[in-house]
Amino acid sequence: MEINITFAPEAGEPVRFAAGELTAYLGRMLAEETGTLSVSLEVRPDREPGLPDWFSVNLEERGGTVAGNSGRAVLLGVYDCLRRLGCRFPAPVKGCETVPSLTRQALALRYEHRASFYHRGVCIEGADSRENLLDFIDWLPKAGYNSFFLQFRTPYAFFKRWYLHERNPLRKAEPFSPADVPVWTEEAEGALKRRGLLLHKVGHGWTGAALGFDAQSWDADPEPLSEEKRPLAAQVDGVRGLYKGVSANTNLCFRNGDAAEVFAALVADYAQAHPGVDYLHVWLADTYNNVCECEGCRATTLSDQYVELLNEIDRRLTAQGLDTKIVFLLYQELLWPPVKARLTNPERFVLMFAPISRTFEQSYPAVGELPPIPAYERNRIELPTSLEENLAFLRGWQRQFAGDSFVYDYPLGRAHYGDFGYVKLARVVSGDVKRLKQLGLNGYISCQELRSGLPNFFPNYVLGRTLMDERADVNELMAEYFSAAYGEDWPAVADYLFQLSGLSSTDYVNGKGPRTDQDMAARMEAVRELCLDFTPTLDAHRTPQGWQTPFWAALDYHRAYVLKLSRALRHLALGEAEKAAESRRAFLELICEKEPDFQPWLDVYRVLEVTENYTGFRGGAEA
Ligand SMILES: [Zn+2]
Repeated sequence: MEINITFAPEAGEPVRFAAGELTAYLGRMLAEETGTLSVSLEVRPDREPGLPDWFSVNLEERGGTVAGNSGRAVLLGVYDCLRRLGCRFPAPVKGCETVPSLTRQALALRYEHRASFYHRGVCIEGADSRENLLDFIDWLPKAGYNSFFLQFRTPYAFFKRWYLHERNPLRKAEPFSPADVPVWTEEAEGALKRRGLLLHKVGHGWTGAALGFDAQSWDADPEPLSEEKRPLAAQVDGVRGLYKGVSANTNLCFRNGDAAEVFAALVADYAQAHPGVDYLHVWLADTYNNVCECEGCRATTLSDQYVELLNEIDRRLTAQGLDTKIVFLLYQELLWPPVKARLTNPERFVLMFAPISRTFEQSYPAVGELPPIPAYERNRIELPTSLEENLAFLRGWQRQFAGDSFVYDYPLGRAHYGDFGYVKLARVVSGDVKRLKQLGLNGYISCQELRSGLPNFFPNYVLGRTLMDERADVNELMAEYFSAAYGEDWPAVADYLFQLSGLSSTDYVNGKGPRTDQDMAARMEAVRELCLDFTPTLDAHRTPQGWQTPFWAALDYHRAYVLKLSRALRHLALGEAEKAAESRRAFLELICEKEPDFQPWLDVYRVLEVTENYTGFRGGAEA
């Protein structure tokens, strides 16, 4: 069949990319058909700016139209109609998609859709190869997402963890030069721009840069703080210096010197030099209870100083004629709303609410009575864990700022390691998204491991699809996803993963609640039995040629992973510290050895980091 895709001569890269994708997929789906199919791709901008992505699809056997309110929306419309025609994109992993064969008579689609939220994205975390990053970017619009956030000025920290194989003693470091990072960053940004995806950048590292450091990771800085810059560092316990040697975690003193001017100039220069950045994140140190205690800083709050800094940045960007959006962050000390300072140009800013210490055992609650915000005590704050406490802080800020906003949340950064089945977490994610409008939030960026696919990428899929359409039913998504991943035996997998989810706990693995816990120990024993009982089902999907789908192979590996991890957790919950540490080492050996076989599915670096730093295994130092 001849496929003829047309678009306006002035169409940008995303429309051209969409044309290539549509040609390739339709070509595979209609390989048996003859004649010509003509489809036109059209950009039809909205009359008012700032509306979420919109697309319309009108297809029949001779062809038709895919239109969108931007080039990106045309691409999203292309992937959405391919999905409605039976294609499945269940993972950011090569070889996992399914593409059906169709007759041209099956091309019968006429619908339009406006995305439920403006901001729908993922932020890089964990340890990632260049391929992981590019594969993830390729997958984003297929799952309905429109944004990606590269943290720091470059994703050096995440590449370094992977290429040096940090925390995997069984693998030798690969050749990796910091000089590769700008090249790969440009490549990733090019992949985002080709798809018209919104680019978020930086966030961490500004305070370190203001102190004269490169500040591209959370690693300790090799050089000491210069005497010239020392007056700009926060004074904590009478000392001005780097917080535990890490400039990215060091707060500034906004009273003792010109820290605000230095910081604002850095942001303005960066925005000038990087016009491709759509959302520039301006955050302070990534630790709490280490803010400046000098007399001048004590006379105000960190949030007031933050808002004054943001106003200074806005003045500079306005003077330079830049319309870059600035994202400001509500977490740690900055959860407390400012007392006096207010943003003078709200249009410039986007509020980002990061309930980093929340539980993932439930979704955000219905908005009702919220507890009062506790009094702010300098360097003695406790992070809120209940969802209501977290939301009380959000409400406090929303009384002062009515502009654009989104939540920055962490179901797939840390929490997911506690849900062995991933289906409970997927339900929490679905419930959270369905609450966003009530909470007055205009989207969601997931701060997460890109390799969060064990047993599968269902929670990530649910997030993308539900942000695109908040009416999406999680059970229907499950049928769609699981049938693509596991074939007709998917209900048996769903049942098994539901039971695993019911027995496991995101809170326990993330250090919330008592470590000795008889009930948890019993649950971990039940997990073991469940895994053993599942063996015949697994075996039925293995042939001499291999597993029925890559998802069955991952599920088999996942079973071994859960057996080892649940054993370590059972000993921990019984208070058997020695046995717990020993069992965790056996877990570590398994996943370090198997990492090459399941590289895109499990972030070995991150699960070891979480179980060492949060779960409470003694002597977490690696084998
Ligand atoms: Zn100070």
